[in-house]
Amino acid sequence: MHLFRPYDPQNIFAKILRGEMPCFKVYEDEVCLAFLDIFPQGPGHTLVVPKVAATNLLNMPADALGTYMVSVQKVAKAVQKAFQADGLTVFQFNGAAGGQTVFHLHFHLIPRQEGVGLKSHGQGGKASEEDLLAHQAAIIAAF
Ligand code: 5GP
Repeated sequence: MHLFRPYDPQNIFAKILRGEMPCFKVYEDEVCLAFLDIFPQGPGHTLVVPKVAATNLLNMPADALGTYMVSVQKVAKAVQKAFQADGLTVFQFNGAAGGQTVFHLHFHLIPRQEGVGLKSHGQGGKASEEDLLAHQAAIIAAF
């Protein structure tokens, strides 16, 4: 079943973690790397990726989950602060049938403003480099 497929070390987030592909990094610690989604569903859409090679939440080693979630919360606070957001939407998809398209565990963090909708998952166009650089700087400054 797709949900329990073996981990593919050539997935795009694995390449970003190894430094083989670039990213707009906003935060890194011993358990995670956080960077901007280049096809954002809204301004400031950030992905928090654990350094452990887990395809999804079901395959994440339980003993690594707690520290990872502490980091997810830390990044969430910075993303909210950077955008002075009224709300924050957190998504996490498991398996193709669950909406996942990159098979390395990640949480999506999307700052929200009152009355402003989201683009659909997978429907966001590529953000401009100018916007990504500005959002990256704003989030980094909010830690
Ligand atoms: P999933 O559908 O697996 O939950 O989310 C994967 C996310 O990765 C999508 O929101 C997509 O826009 C984003 N994404 C896909 N390719 C890249 C990439 O090369 N760099 C970055 N930063 N994000 C990507």
